[in-house]
Amino acid sequence: MKTALITGITGQDGPYLTKWLLSKNYKVVGFAPDTSEFQMRNLKFLNLIDDVKLHTANLLDLSNIIRILEKVEPDEIYHLAAQSSVGLSFDQPIGTLEFNIISTANLLEAIRIINPKIRFYNASSSEMYGNVKENQLPVTEESVLHPVSPYAISKASAHWITINYREAYRLYSTCGILFNHESVLRGKNFVTKKILDTAIKIKKGLEKELVLGNISISRDWGYAPEFIKAMWLMLQQDKPDDYVICSGEHHSLEIFTKLVFKKLDLDFNKFVKCDDKHLRPVDLKIIYGDNSKAKKELKWKYDITLEELIDKLIEDEYKFFEWEAKNRNF
Ligand code: NDP
Repeated sequence: MKTALITGITGQDGPYLTKWLLSKNYKVVGFAPDTSEFQMRNLKFLNLIDDVKLHTANLLDLSNIIRILEKVEPDEIYHLAAQSSVGLSFDQPIGTLEFNIISTANLLEAIRIINPKIRFYNASSSEMYGNVKENQLPVTEESVLHPVSPYAISKASAHWITINYREAYRLYSTCGILFNHESVLRGKNFVTKKILDTAIKIKKGLEKELVLGNISISRDWGYAPEFIKAMWLMLQQDKPDDYVICSGEHHSLEIFTKLVFKKLDLDFNKFVKCDDKHLRPVDLKIIYGDNSKAKKELKWKYDITLEELIDKLIEDEYKFFEWEAKNRNF
C-alpha cells in the first residue's frame, strides 16, 4: 500500500484527490493548518474524514516538516497548500509570496534530506503566464511566464524551484500547470462559487442581486474532480515533467454567468450588476490552454463542455445547500 501526503488537504482539490487516492488503495495523510470543525467541512461533505490521518503542520518550518515526513514516510507528496486567491494576493502580497514560495522550497529540501525517492507534485498555475498575446494562445508547457499578480509571481517561483530540484538533484518533482477548475468545494472568495451560491440564493429568495467586477474576461474552466486525476497520473510516469491541464475551451465570465442564470430560469439583466470596486489592479483578459501533451502522454481524459460543467456545478451546489442546512455548526 502506497502512502500519499497531501498539503492543503482541506481546500477544494485536496478532498477530491483524497477520494481518488483512496479508490486506488492509498493510505492518505494530510497536512492542515488546523483541524477545526470549519476547516474539515470539505472532507466531511465528501465523507472522508474518518479515512484520512491529519497532521497540523507549519510548512514554513523545515524542521517541523522533516519530523513529520520521517514519521509518515510518504511515497508521494501532493503540494496543494497555498494562499490561492489572486485577488487576495494584491491585499496580502508578502504573506502570499512567503507562504507559496517557502513552503515549496521547504518540502523539496526535506525530500532531498530525508528520502530523494519521494515523488513530488507541485500545484503550478496558468496564472504564471499572465497576459499572453492572443496570437500566442493557447498556452503550452513551453509558453513564456510573465506573471502579473503576487499570487502568479509566487507560483512562478515555486514552479521554478520544483524544476530546479529536478534538474539539480534529480528529484522526481513534477509541475501540474492547472487552469481554473471549479467545484462545489471552491472557496466563497472565488468568482464561480460566488455566482453559483448567489444565483441559487436569489432563486430561493435569500439574496436580491449578484454584484461582479469585470465580466468581459475569458477563462478556460474545468471540473475539479476530473483535474485531480491528472495530478495522480503525473506521479505515475517514468520521469518527472511539466503538464498543462485545462479544458482547452475559453468563455467569458459574462457567458458563464448568463448560462447559470438561464439554467436557473433567472433574469440576468434584472439581478446581475457590475461594480468597479470589484476590479483588480491588473487582470488577465483572455487565457486558455492546450492539453494535448497531458492527453497524449498521461492518457488523461477530459471532454466536459461549459454547459455540462455548469449543470454539474448547479446540481452539486443544491446538494451542498441541503448538507449545510443539516450541519449548521459550519
Ligand atoms: P484552495 O484555496 O481551495 O486550498 C488551498 C489549501 O491550502 C487549503 O487547504 C488551505 O487551508 C491551505 N493553506 C492556505 N494557506 C495555508 C497556510 N498558511 N498553511 C497551511 N495551509 C494553508 O485551493 P485549491 O484546492 O483550489 O487549489 C489547490 C492548489 O492548486 C493551490 O496551490 C492553488 O494555488 C493551485 N491551483 C488551483 C487552481 C484552481 O483553479 N483551483 C488553478 C491552478 C492552480 P485552509 O483551508 O485552512 O485555508
